[in-house]
Amino acid sequence: MEKKLQGQIAIITGASSGIGAGVSKILALAGATVIINHPVDATKPAAEAVLTDIKNAGGNGITYQCDVSKEDEVIKMFADVIAQFGTVDILINNAGLQRDSSFAEMTLAQWNTVIGVNLTGQFLCAREAVKEFLRRGVVPERSKAAGKIICMSSVHEVIPWGGHANYAASKGGIMLMMKSIAQEYAGKKIRINSICPGAIQTPINKAAWETPEALQSLLTLVPYGRIGQPDDIGNAAVWLASDDSDYVTGISLFVDGGMTLYPGFSTNG
Ligand code: NAD
Repeated sequence: MEKKLQGQIAIITGASSGIGAGVSKILALAGATVIINHPVDATKPAAEAVLTDIKNAGGNGITYQCDVSKEDEVIKMFADVIAQFGTVDILINNAGLQRDSSFAEMTLAQWNTVIGVNLTGQFLCAREAVKEFLRRGVVPERSKAAGKIICMSSVHEVIPWGGHANYAASKGGIMLMMKSIAQEYAGKKIRINSICPGAIQTPINKAAWETPEALQSLLTLVPYGRIGQPDDIGNAAVWLASDDSDYVTGISLFVDGGMTLYPGFSTNG
């Protein structure tokens, strides 16, 4: 792969599994040094396994434990990474989770956990990244931009999702946070965009693909006729993080095999 991110430092949150792990591997192949964030002691072995794969493929990085919903931990993560590597060029705001419930039965704890990680976590990480991008400014040898943030949103920033009001609210929130800060900092050459995955085969949605019946039912929602893979998101992330997309900021890039094309209307509704 062409080394479009050579010498750049990328923090990927929630990177010990699924999309975050896949994005980390592809960014490393593109030349970035990757900080593989994971939340707790129990996720460290999986993060180390991602790092081993990356090193075996000739890449470089570290693992870093930090719960992105906790302000003190996020501030420390950015300070430690900047102390070790000098700066941060790319943030992949990926960590996310679900706590599903019918709306009437949803507890405040379920609501707060999802908003705390998916939305507040993205706010905290983006804020620390923007501070560093403003401090450093543009260094032409690194990139045309002062920094790049990619928020992992979802098709559920536009598709309502019964039984998942907390999750859909978090992703809808990401959309306008992302666009607002993209607008605020475009003049400082900071680019901020979202990727909106459709159905990607990862642990978060195992129930939707682990049996042939479940997969068949899922594919009725995907015009392109296959489930997505973390590499589909990784390739989009490399493009949004590289100077190839230098004139792109404030967009939601749907990588969803057409899930947002209202497939139920394909035969006249
Ligand atoms: P996943 O469960 O494999 O990955 C989520 C990661 O977030 C895990 O590694 C988990 O350890 C980490 N995490 C959870 N809480 C954290 C915290 N407090 N601090 C740091 N890390 C934390 O699932 P995934 O599918 O890879 O999800 C990645 C992102 O993609 C999520 O934001 C998810 O909402 C989004 N997404 C996924 C799909 C899909 O179909 N898989 C679709 C749309 C959006």
